Amino acid sequence: MELRTIRDADLKNKKVLIRVDFNVPLKDGVVTDDTRIKAALPTIKYILEQEGTSLVVMSHLGRPKGEKKPEFSLQPVCKKFSELLGRPVKMASDVIGNEVAEEVKNLKAGEVLLLENVRFYPGDESKDAAVKEEYSKTLASYGDVYVNDAFGTAHRAHASTEGVAHFLPSYAGFLIEKEVKFMAPLLENPEKPFVAIIGGAKVSSKITVLKSLARTCDTIVIGGGMAYTFLRVLGHSVGKSLVEEDFLDTAREFLDAAKSAGVKVILPVDHVAAEAFDENAKPVYVDGYDIPENLMGMDIGAKTVALVVDALKSAKTVVWNGPMGVFEFASFAKGTEEVAKALSESDAITVVGGGDSVAAINKFGLASKISHVSTGGGASLEFLEGKTLPGIAVLVK
Ligand code: ADP
Ligand code: MG
Repeated sequence: MELRTIRDADLKNKKVLIRVDFNVPLKDGVVTDDTRIKAALPTIKYILEQEGTSLVVMSHLGRPKGEKKPEFSLQPVCKKFSELLGRPVKMASDVIGNEVAEEVKNLKAGEVLLLENVRFYPGDESKDAAVKEEYSKTLASYGDVYVNDAFGTAHRAHASTEGVAHFLPSYAGFLIEKEVKFMAPLLENPEKPFVAIIGGAKVSSKITVLKSLARTCDTIVIGGGMAYTFLRVLGHSVGKSLVEEDFLDTAREFLDAAKSAGVKVILPVDHVAAEAFDENAKPVYVDGYDIPENLMGMDIGAKTVALVVDALKSAKTVVWNGPMGVFEFASFAKGTEEVAKALSESDAITVVGGGDSVAAINKFGLASKISHVSTGGGASLEFLEGKTLPGIAVLVK
């Protein structure tokens, strides 16, 4: 998958309209985590370094649901953005309207204007094609060139993420370029051996990604809550563990298909269990596949971790999506932490995607030792599922 990137674009003397993900957490009108703003800076700085460029920046913030709600204003973000960029950023009065059009028109070379929250109007997320098109055209009128660097919303066909691309020459920023550079090979031609580690709560939410990765990987580790549905299918007792009764057939079919395809599946061979799903529940070590009637599996055990570590030894590519246990509870976080450590120590190309898995990697302070930590929760999952992301499809060469 080859993208048109800002390196391919002729930006000289152009007004550049860029979609970023400045959907940052706020408390009392102050940005509490500026990671996403910082992440967009390389692309923004690159554009501003080109001769004669000016920049119109757009983002969503929270869920104002098509209404102009002051608590979702990008004003506080503008302040932080300006600080981090090291130059003034003008805050637009709105997203659309004559006043904004004037503000955009008056923008001089080297200047930066941040539009208000694109979700202040229903046009951004609208399912009505005509409404979306009209909004897209208005946004497109603000620039000569469109750049998208908001990977986290690339799975949404919104006006600001996809619609505008139909009305302007459009290019990927560095963030989207990096996401695709690391994720596309996983589905196309990964360096082998390729190990996929999939966990999380439910088979239902991960079955598509399992099937997708099974096409290219050599080994799949299945951990987390969803492992028990698979163990049940294989005839093991799983006690009170999470089991999706409606997905037993799906799980069985997957195991059969993996076997025929020669994909090795690793399931937990030991567990850390508890009597109840509770932060303070007493952890009980359970050796072997089977879990006693009164217990539920909360984490993978040390022997399972050793199997994962062993599988990673020869791996050239590893992808991880979904925690191995209830890592939010200290007593049941070890399996996830150990797997995260193994990934961080691996010489392979390592990719971590998924909201909770990324949270876990950050919690354990290991993000800098991973080749690529995806910036999209839902978007990275859909990418790994092999789905076409509308915001990226419009940027493909
Ligand atoms: P991601 O966001 O990385 O894609 P998921 O959302 O699929 O991951 O799954 C994360 C959730 O799975 C976590 O909240 C975690 O507590 C839960 N989970 C992991 N193992 C278990 C388990 N054994 N029982 C119940 N829930 C679990
Ligand atoms: Mg999640």
